[in-house]
Amino acid sequence: MTFKPANNIQDLQYFGEFGGVNPSISDSSTYTFLSAKTMFDTFEGNADGCYLYSRHSSPSNLYLGEALAAMEGTETATVTASGMGAITPVLLQLCDAGDHVVSSRTIYGGTYAFLKNFTPRLGITTTFVDITKLEIVEAAITPRTKVLYCESVSNPLLEVADIKGLAAIAKKHNLKLIVDNTFSPLSISPINLGADIVVHSLTKFINGSSDTVGGVVCGTQELIDDLRNVNSGAAMLLGSTMDSLRSASVLKNLRTLHIRMMQHSYNATYLAERFEKDGLKTVYPGLASHPSHELFKSMMNEKYGFGGMMTLDVGSLDKANALMEMMQERNLGYLAVSLGFYKTLFSAPGSSTSSEIPEDEQAEMGLSDGLIRFSIGLDADIERTYNMMKACMEELNIL
Ligand SMILES: *Cc1c(COP(=O)(O)O)cnc(C)c1O
Repeated sequence: MTFKPANNIQDLQYFGEFGGVNPSISDSSTYTFLSAKTMFDTFEGNADGCYLYSRHSSPSNLYLGEALAAMEGTETATVTASGMGAITPVLLQLCDAGDHVVSSRTIYGGTYAFLKNFTPRLGITTTFVDITKLEIVEAAITPRTKVLYCESVSNPLLEVADIKGLAAIAKKHNLKLIVDNTFSPLSISPINLGADIVVHSLTKFINGSSDTVGGVVCGTQELIDDLRNVNSGAAMLLGSTMDSLRSASVLKNLRTLHIRMMQHSYNATYLAERFEKDGLKTVYPGLASHPSHELFKSMMNEKYGFGGMMTLDVGSLDKANALMEMMQERNLGYLAVSLGFYKTLFSAPGSSTSSEIPEDEQAEMGLSDGLIRFSIGLDADIERTYNMMKACMEELNIL
């Protein structure tokens, strides 16, 4: 049976308090109880449907969480103030001092820095591996390993994780497989492929308007209850809760995600095919030349395509910088980090978003100086965009 993530979102029905077509926004940090006993039960986690305090949960956050859980096919979800605010508590919830994580080495710079520099202070260590080599992944597992961590499509190199293969390893060794699905919402449904937990930075495609940061952990009711436990929950105690006003606005944007992903994918495919033909070193999972093209195809919900992320190697950092400045000047996009915006965004990851990764390690993983990461926008006329980008490249002797 094919998984229909956009249908799952659309089939939810929420009304506002007065019959509004959008749910009412909960504009309160705290909630009254009719009886003292119910307040006690809520603290103990035994009063379903009662709200206590908005760091714990709020109606608006639950609406957004349920929509994202429906999208990913999990029992439930909890939304957070940023993507890092989702990733860090879930890792800390699952790992005690002395525990170990096996992680892909090509992950978001912040996640990499957290696992490499921060969690060792708490006695949690990580082995970083080439996630595309399942035998290397399995060999890195120790008796103290608790978590296998990867991104479905990695940042910035667009490596694709074999989620089914990783899930089998996780099951065999009794680990939790956490997949960061930020780059491929709707296109890839990790739970359907055997993952245990999905995290997202909502900041990117899901919200899509570059007006906020946000995150989510999608998982079992048990995991989410643990994260929110008033006595021991990392989400509750570290306090990375999303604000209700913001979750209401992210929910409204989520409803157009399927249309946006199709357009991002269409435009990125168009540009990747053209620039590859022009002789540029182009990385896009939708190209037959991508080492994991067939793997991506075997995992994807076809309709949404191969996503909006693409990289071009223009030879040197100087050329990359000149090209990015020229493209911005001609309004082809913005020289900015982040992704999933209606405008194309571009940056040179080696000197920006992945600068947490030491230079020698960058070289080893194929992160070259001239690499530009593109988040392709929703341009209505992608042929015009291509012609204008090509003109910039010709002027700079890149093509
Ligand atoms: C941006 C990003 C994050 C971090 O999310 P924030 O919302 O910036 O905290 C995590 N993972 C990936 C893949 C990202 O692109």
